[in-house]
Amino acid sequence: YREIRLILGDQLNVSHSWFHQQRDDTLYVMMEIRQETDYVRHHKQKLLAFFAAMRAFANALSNRHEILYLALDSRQNTHSLTDNLTMIIEHIKAESFSYQAPDEWRLDELLLRFKPPQVSVHMVDSEHFLTSRDALQQHFDNDNALLMETFYRRVRRQYGYLMDGDKPVGGKWNYDHENRNKLPAKQDIPTPLTFANDVTGLLQLIDDAGIETMGNASKELLWPVTRQQSRQLLDFFIRHCLPDFGRYQDALSERGWSLYHARLSFSMNSKMLSPREVVERAIEAYQHSDGAITLAQIEGFVRQIIGWREYVRAIYWAKMPDYAAHNKLQHQRKLPDFYWHGRTKMACMQHAVEQSLEYAYAHHIQRLMVTGNFALLAGVHPDQVDAWYLGIYIDAIEWVELPNTRGMSQFADGGLLATKPYVSSGNYLNKMGHYCKSCHYNVNQRSGEDACPFNLLYWHFIERHKDRLRHNHRMRMIYRQWEQRDASEREVILKQAERYLADLDNL
Ligand code: FAD
Repeated sequence: YREIRLILGDQLNVSHSWFHQQRDDTLYVMMEIRQETDYVRHHKQKLLAFFAAMRAFANALSNRHEILYLALDSRQNTHSLTDNLTMIIEHIKAESFSYQAPDEWRLDELLLRFKPPQVSVHMVDSEHFLTSRDALQQHFDNDNALLMETFYRRVRRQYGYLMDGDKPVGGKWNYDHENRNKLPAKQDIPTPLTFANDVTGLLQLIDDAGIETMGNASKELLWPVTRQQSRQLLDFFIRHCLPDFGRYQDALSERGWSLYHARLSFSMNSKMLSPREVVERAIEAYQHSDGAITLAQIEGFVRQIIGWREYVRAIYWAKMPDYAAHNKLQHQRKLPDFYWHGRTKMACMQHAVEQSLEYAYAHHIQRLMVTGNFALLAGVHPDQVDAWYLGIYIDAIEWVELPNTRGMSQFADGGLLATKPYVSSGNYLNKMGHYCKSCHYNVNQRSGEDACPFNLLYWHFIERHKDRLRHNHRMRMIYRQWEQRDASEREVILKQAERYLADLDNL
């Protein structure tokens, strides 16, 4: 072989132009390495899903291409990406080494520094995203204007999605205000389509290797691990969930673990599905639906993928590596233990954590307004919050996890990504979900032994960050409300909040 081509575990893009031509002089390389299994404590299902998907991809590719696949237990495996590459390059005396642009800064740096002697090195596009890594610098010249909405409109225009000439279909760009319904108590929700991929061997391999993981896993993995399964999941979503997607996008309910959400993030982040294909299939279904899928539903979905998903990636590349160290609110507390086992008296937190451990999944509002909200109110150090989100979710890869967690959810960037902190008292959780009825705590109580911890910690957060947040125009009303209360009432709340903060593990 003359050329080595590296395929990373999240580059399972079978449509990549690399694979258009069969070439005898090219060896594709994939590897399962401890470097990747150990940089954070991953959910077991996440490791299983990535390895199973990589193996299925290698298997399919091997029909037409030469592949070297280093398994976790292969004797030659050094478990370091670059040591393995050096070994293979030397062994076959390769003249050229190519790789697709990694999505993570960590791997990008590693490969930029990798310079095997007498070998020409090339980085090619991963041919997955709609916008380029430097999309932010291309479109915005100062940080104040980095709004997602502006970015989203540009991408929609550029691709002509839901456009009528240069106007948005229906006359409005955004139907977000129609997307905030509570789930009616009696409404049937679709039973999620799951798979039963046999991962007995992989499970044994991971256990034998002694990799530290979190979460539950069985011999049957419910996540899609092939392109075919990913497309089945997309079809299922379009048929059963898209007609109500936007409407219940912000809903919380203990009656289901994914409600009307797509669960396509793993398939997209591993590149088994392309974002364009997902969006175009959904738009086509909308156009042929005779009104069953309304504009507000399809617009809400398209915005998540061509807006949010591309936007957070652009932020990531514009702001790394500094972004990973931001802690503008100077939060220092440790993540409460119940994030790791789910045993807490707060019903909403219990449900969100338990289902995350069970399925390696929580939908956006659970991540943002339940677990994220609580960590922010409690003042947990963003490093600890990041490590948890990066480990626990099936779709967690740093380029998308980090801006969402540190930026959107923890406000650790001081407001680059979110114009105000996503914090709420128990009131919001009660409005959007049904947990509070069965909770140990009382959501209607502002203080006292049974008061909902979200209520107390919320005002503590407001008080402790008043210097920074009081002048934020979106927070002014909250400060007015807080400052109008009796000084004695404020003191009672803050004192009790302090007691909760001193004993977070026991809430
Ligand atoms: P749906 O709700 O059905 O949305 C459809 C698709 O839109 C998703 O598959 C995803 O590709 C995209 N999308 C929606 N919101 C976002 C967003 N804010 N950023 C990027 N893409 C978005 N997403 C990840 O893919 N990986 C992560 O590690 C991750 N970590 C997060 C951490 C926190 C604290 C928060 C608040 C959000 C995080 N998200 C992450 C974004 C979002 O919650 C998930 O993309 C979504 O829950 C995945 O489930 P779904 O496919 O059912 O999404």
